[in-house]
Parts: sequence; structure tokens; C-alpha cells
Amino acid sequence: MSNCIFCKIVNGEIPCNKIYEDDKVLAFEDINPGAPVHILVVPKQHIQSVLDLNESNKYVTVDIFDAINKIAKMLDIDKDGFRVVANTGANGGQTVAHLHYHILGGRSLQWPPG
Ligand code: AMP
Ligand code: ZN
Repeated sequence: MSNCIFCKIVNGEIPCNKIYEDDKVLAFEDINPGAPVHILVVPKQHIQSVLDLNESNKYVTVDIFDAINKIAKMLDIDKDGFRVVANTGANGGQTVAHLHYHILGGRSLQWPPG
């Protein structure tokens, strides 16, 4: 999508600190980190949110979670643990309308979040 910031990161129009990439998924550092490790994992295809997953695109979630598994081990947060979050819609606090999963780690996290 032409005016989507994460599509622009995927196609290289906007720079990012890339952590991981494969043919379906890109992961990069969050520009405003909320924890020592704060990575965003996005499908390269524009999907607005969890609510826009459907029969034809839903398998990208498997690719995303495969990537999360690799990234957690790569960044050495697998042993201490971490959190995966997909904020969805207004009440969920979603500010970018391109499906993304936050990986938060490197410190003990509070629950429930604010
Ligand atoms: P959410 O609020 O769940 O939609 O998450 C969007 C996230 O994208 C926020 O944590 C922002 O800090 C992050 N973000 C926005 N613009 C960029 C960017 N250009 N590069 C990296 N992260 C970004
Ligand atoms: Zn997009």
C-alpha cells in the first residue's frame, strides 16, 4: 500500500535496523523501544491487522512465528523469556495499520499492560 509506513520499510523507501528477513517476513528494531529488545515482525504483504487475515493469507502467521522463534534465539532472549504482542484497532493501541507483532524482551515485563 503506497501510504503505509511499514510497506515503505519493506520496499526500502524508509530505512530500518533490519534484524531478520526472508521471502515473506521482515523484522526490524522498533524506533521507540519499550524494552531493551523491541523488534517488530511484519509480513511483506500488506495486511491491515489480525482482523484482515483470511483463507488466502493466513499462513503468513506461520512464517511470522517461525521468524519470531529464530529471532528470539538469535538475540538470546529465549532462555529468560519475552512477550509477543499484536495490538489491534483503537482500543488495542494499534497506531500502524499494517499487521505487526512486537517482540519485547531483555527485562521482566509487567502484566497486565497499561
Ligand atoms: P502499534 O502501536 O502496535 O501499531 O506499533 C507501531 C510501532 O511502530 C510503534 O511501537 C512505533 O514505535 C513503531 N514505529 C513507527 N514508525 C517506525 C519506524 N519508521 N521504524 C521503526 N518502528 C517504527
Ligand atoms: Zn503496509
